[in-house]
Amino acid sequence: MSDQRSAAQEAAANVKAEQRPSRKAVIIGAGPAGLTAAYELTAKSDIVPLVLEKSRRMGGISCTVEHQGNRIDIGGHRFFSKSDRVMQWWMGFMPLEALPEGATQITYHRRSRDLEVDGQGPDPATEDRVMLLRQRKSRIYYLRQFFDYPISLSPDTLRKLGLMRTLRIGLSYGKSMLLPGGEPENLEEFFIQRFGKELYLTFFKDYTEKVWGTPCKDISAEWGAQRIKGLSILKAVTHFFKSLFKRDRSIDQKDTETSLIEQFLYPKLGPGQMWDVVADEVRQGGGTIHTGIEVRRLFSDGERIVAVEAVDLASGETERIEGDFFFSTMPVQQLVEGLEPPLPEAAAEISRGLVYRDFITVGLLLEELEIKERHGNDNGGLIRDNWIYIQEPDVQVGRLQIFNNWSPYMVADPGTVWLGLEYFCNDTDALWQMSDEEMIELAKEELDHIDIIDRNKVITGTVLRVPKTYPAYFGTYDRFDTLRQHLDRFDNLFLVGRNGMHKYNNQDHSMLTAMLAVENILQGRTDKSNLWSVNTEEEYHEEKS
Ligand SMILES: Cc1cc2nc3c(=O)[nH]c(=O)nc-3n(C[C@H](O)[C@H](O)[C@H](O)COP(=O)(O)OP(=O)(O)OC[C@H]3O[C@@H](n4cnc5c(N)ncnc54)[C@H](O)[C@@H]3O)c2cc1C
Repeated sequence: MSDQRSAAQEAAANVKAEQRPSRKAVIIGAGPAGLTAAYELTAKSDIVPLVLEKSRRMGGISCTVEHQGNRIDIGGHRFFSKSDRVMQWWMGFMPLEALPEGATQITYHRRSRDLEVDGQGPDPATEDRVMLLRQRKSRIYYLRQFFDYPISLSPDTLRKLGLMRTLRIGLSYGKSMLLPGGEPENLEEFFIQRFGKELYLTFFKDYTEKVWGTPCKDISAEWGAQRIKGLSILKAVTHFFKSLFKRDRSIDQKDTETSLIEQFLYPKLGPGQMWDVVADEVRQGGGTIHTGIEVRRLFSDGERIVAVEAVDLASGETERIEGDFFFSTMPVQQLVEGLEPPLPEAAAEISRGLVYRDFITVGLLLEELEIKERHGNDNGGLIRDNWIYIQEPDVQVGRLQIFNNWSPYMVADPGTVWLGLEYFCNDTDALWQMSDEEMIELAKEELDHIDIIDRNKVITGTVLRVPKTYPAYFGTYDRFDTLRQHLDRFDNLFLVGRNGMHKYNNQDHSMLTAMLAVENILQGRTDKSNLWSVNTEEEYHEEKS
């Protein structure tokens, strides 16, 4: 009897659910976080997502842009994660390529399971919807020579650094080990405690300051703790010796420091391909995505967000859009500026003080590089690096991507070399104001100057300016928690992703915050602390807990 009653109740509940007008989630931004939230909602709930994206592309910073048939990625996006959930999510949308004969199975979950691939994945030569398995190679270019990255203290490195500098490195490292000092107060102290002063001055200071445009002394030690984490001299040396004998062939490489990851997945046509595929699935699942639409204002009743004001960037028309839930991946600062009524001044002041770093990528297509491997190689004469850190102080370029080595399918003519030069700057800098032609000239000039290319062999170029690529851990960031508390009070507003949370997140962590936000809604959980505890060492948090 009781069973019958519960079945009847269930049926009545189903009828009610069918009659209930479906709930709507307004999602600001079609980057990895926004699209993940949208997909999860379509797959797991009756909440209908409406994604509003100001650009014309899917993927946000993880998009792919085409120039004369060549595809450029904003920064080179490795797909790897220590989260099983994210790895499986990605491969569910784009399967891993067929592996070479013999490699019928790859260890995916090193400690528990294997990924059943049996070498049967799609062949990238004939199929587009496929993830490539790539080997990471990245080096530091300094003193017009290559050094391993992360720095391995190999005999080759020590020879290139010279006897005197090597001695100074050894002595200053010894000093840091013997007299470590207390908790580091800034990034400079963090580096020196870990690596010693000489190694910090040689390999970390100039590059980090190029990226952030501010002295390491003014950057929070938290950035180092999050990005460099467990990497230390001891681990670098151990890794070097281990790598002589055995490579970590698992894709997720859970036991490897993130900076030392040697393999990663990459969509055949660049990261934007993944997000185009996800966007298609969102539409098929009943979601809507509008591009060219910028959210400028968010209206609250004091406790909940009730609507946003969206502007059609082509026509200038504005529309008020109401919703039941709101996910924001737009920069926190812009969100706070657009809130009506505004937050109390104490919170608004923290928001105004948040700092961002902007980014310019110059794509250059060349006949060939001037720089070659000393002992030749089997990569058609092209060096094998995915990217190179440019440590030379006499040029502004910070990093160099070689897209041929990310995916050969990124390049229209395989006989050419397709480069991405990365410039870190502020949108107020002269660099940001330069015309595209001037930027391309600068890029050619700089790479020629440091002997990497012959500027006369450049065929064509393109320029991409990306504002707010790096949320900075300085400015008012040390008081961010207060701002967060004010924003978390809106029950139905979920800040997710990178700029959405002002967190230096990679794609996987941006995605995880979106997945958890959807789960919170489905479980009726209003406390958002689980979103804020997602960060780059997710696995270690799980272990600790
Ligand atoms: C140089 C570089 C290299 C990187 N390399 C890697 C890597 O190797 N691996 C990795 O996993 N991650 C990498 N990342 C990080 C990765 O790009 C981000 O984590 C990811 O794109 C963040 O996703 P998101 O959705 O939170 O934000 P975003 O990618 O920033 O997307 C936000 C979207 O919101 C839109 N938007 C903003 N404001 C509004 C508004 N008001 N109205 C409507 N739309 C709006 C934007 O146009 C954008 O499309 C790299 C980042 C950089 C800068």
